[in-house]
Amino acid sequence: MLTVEEALERVLNSVPLLGTEKRHILKCLGYVIAEDIYADYDIPPFDNSSMDGFATIAADVAHASRDNPVTLKVVENLPAGSAPTKKVTHGQAARIMTGAMMPEGADAVVMVENTQTEGDMVRIFDTVKTGKNIRLRGQTVVANTLIIPKGKTIRPPEMAMLATFNRAEVTVYRRPKVALISTGDELTPLGEVLQPGKIRESNRYGLYGQVLEAGCTPINLGIAVDHVNVLEEKFRAGLRQADVLVTSGGVSVGDYDFVKEVLSELGEINFWKVAMKPGKPQAFGVVEGKPIFGLPGNPVASLVVFEIIVRPALLKMSGHTDIFRPTFHAIMENRIENTSERVHFARAIIEQRGDKYYARTTALHVSGMLLSLVLANGLIIIPADTTLKVGDEVEAMLMSDIVKGL
Ligand code: AMP
Ligand code: MG
Repeated sequence: MLTVEEALERVLNSVPLLGTEKRHILKCLGYVIAEDIYADYDIPPFDNSSMDGFATIAADVAHASRDNPVTLKVVENLPAGSAPTKKVTHGQAARIMTGAMMPEGADAVVMVENTQTEGDMVRIFDTVKTGKNIRLRGQTVVANTLIIPKGKTIRPPEMAMLATFNRAEVTVYRRPKVALISTGDELTPLGEVLQPGKIRESNRYGLYGQVLEAGCTPINLGIAVDHVNVLEEKFRAGLRQADVLVTSGGVSVGDYDFVKEVLSELGEINFWKVAMKPGKPQAFGVVEGKPIFGLPGNPVASLVVFEIIVRPALLKMSGHTDIFRPTFHAIMENRIENTSERVHFARAIIEQRGDKYYARTTALHVSGMLLSLVLANGLIIIPADTTLKVGDEVEAMLMSDIVKGL
């Protein structure tokens, strides 16, 4: 049996980094940038006003007050976007709006609140220091500075910054297309009447959501019955269309677990037992550069194995270096025993109260119980042969930030 760390190490060492592509910035959210972005010019690109007011020479208003205002001649009106045409000289001012370019000669902006306009004159009621209310050229970014380094994930601020530098397109790492196939004679697709002995197929839908959540593109290839030819045809179709193949079911030791046999035909696939609960039997291999994950059919196991093993691999393939969910300590609110020799990823409700996190497991621990995941917002990681009592610390991870309304 492999430890989870060993399985992860083997998976992460063998998945490829996909190539790069150019994308429009509006289609880049969550992608990893594959080029360094340097500032083409200074930001702000010119000295401009940070206030609505009057651009003046500070020395001219050095003694201004409510009782003793200084009157200046307004030589120009400068809305944002305009370019000044006049120089401000002693005894003069220019009416200026936030963001407008500072006129030559002026060295400060008096806020409009401290002024009163009268015809083409303005009365100034307050003093102002040289440089006051002016955003200087290059104050936030100097040209040629590295603004977004290669490898960074593009978030809304990066999108805005790319737009600032007129980068409509940017080179990013491609994110994998992931083919999803569920296997099993008992599985009935959505919409069809359930016949005796059959169950509703659910894994593909959960996995579909997980693939989307990981920022990748799911390709839904449906259900394959437990028949060698059918499985082989579906798996090959998956490999043709996608960068990654994820199957569910048929990897344990049942009579009809043909998935193993068929996967072995495709290339070098390892069938391993991973010391995790749920999700012990798994298959993994890379065929023609395309990772194949054979997940167990058990609904909770398939979601948990995706979360623990497949998700980091997909993130790595997409160029991310931060590929694991953060873990933190939580305080147990119930007792839970892990009598097995495998690490138990127990579904839990994790809540922050004050400056601490608390975790309670979602009652149903049988691995097939999807409800235990529906009720949970995260997992707690209970080492092998460990009993946790109320008040004990446990390592926890959130799978969603939705805490309310579980
Ligand atoms: P298997 O790994 O194929 O032996 O399946 C283990 C258990 O999970 C069995 O009870 C299956 O009926 C169930 N199962 C397998 N695949 C799915 C699926 N796609 N949706 C729901 N349940 C499944
Ligand atoms: Mg099966």
